[in-house]
Amino acid sequence: MTKSNILTDTFGRKHNYLRISLTERCNLRCTYCMPADGIQLSPKDHLMTYEEIYTIAKEFVSMGVTKIRLTGGEPLIRKDAALIMEKLSSLPVQLTLTTNGVIVDKFIDHFKKCGIKTLNVSLDSLDTKKNREITRRSYFEKVYQNIILLVKEGFQVKVNCVLMKDFNDDEVIDFINLSKNLPVHVRFIEFMPFDGNQWNMERLVSLQEILSKVHSNFKENEVIKLQDAPNDTTKSYQIKGYKGTFAIISSVTNPFCDGCNRIRLTANGQIKNCLFSSKESDLLTTLRAGESIIPIIQKAVQTKFKVRSGMDTLDKFKRIDGHNNRSMITIGG
Ligand code: SAM
Ligand code: SF4
Repeated sequence: MTKSNILTDTFGRKHNYLRISLTERCNLRCTYCMPADGIQLSPKDHLMTYEEIYTIAKEFVSMGVTKIRLTGGEPLIRKDAALIMEKLSSLPVQLTLTTNGVIVDKFIDHFKKCGIKTLNVSLDSLDTKKNREITRRSYFEKVYQNIILLVKEGFQVKVNCVLMKDFNDDEVIDFINLSKNLPVHVRFIEFMPFDGNQWNMERLVSLQEILSKVHSNFKENEVIKLQDAPNDTTKSYQIKGYKGTFAIISSVTNPFCDGCNRIRLTANGQIKNCLFSSKESDLLTTLRAGESIIPIIQKAVQTKFKVRSGMDTLDKFKRIDGHNNRSMITIGG
């Protein structure tokens, strides 16, 4: 096998998109992500240093990775986040990040310096009270203003919104209307099961339910279906005349594994070949032992299932219930 084939799995999918979690910590406590009683944090010396992150990323780039997303926890609260962005920006990749937006205003110039052009910002409610309820913190106004700031500064912003029944599903149209005058890409994400997040199918708002809200609010000729790129996880739409767009990520009711090009690296140096896989491959120990990490990466890619770590039907998926997987805060989305 040549180096350029290592990231191609047995179904012919090329994994050119690496998502690196920088930290297990966060300045918010979103109920769907962080268990109510917190998580067991990895000991500090089990976390990748910035040099290790760079070494591993460089190895992935040499095998064909062209896009790196930094995530967490909240990636920007890591003390050396700026240094990591700078180091990774020297690699020939599209560098981007997913953030809760609370402190992005402090990084605007640095993002520009590192060639970061797009950011995903999480915002689950446009209502201050509900936002406090879901994040267990009071930063709604700050995040909202930071989204506007990012747009003003020329960044492409995707707003990630996890929908939950009888909580924020009445805000679908408000979120879409956010894209009327603001050129943001709103993404509704189906609520997914992870350890400790009280997942329940009844709380999930499905792709079909979201679309039916859209169609009952807008006329048929106002809802434009946009072309999705081959590796897109979303179904994208635009309301006629709106500056922005919206999309639905339906990992539960309508998985999109055929075009999956993602591989995940956790803050403690484990590879996850699928968001829903409970199996991990330990890169960090091997790297620290001075051995090649390539065989481990190769095995992780070769053992990837065709669909959602083997849970190819909704029935199988519902039975798993997230209990064997990490909490989302330690994966990074
Ligand atoms: N702290 C950053 C943020 O909130 O954007 C990055 C990490 S967060 C784990 C990455 C993404 O995962 C966020 O957009 C968040 O909404 C999403 N997420 C977390 N838990 C989820 C769940 N149970 N179902 C669906 N999406 C989830
Ligand atoms: Fe933190 Fe992001 Fe998880 Fe919310 S979704 S608790 S902001 S890591």
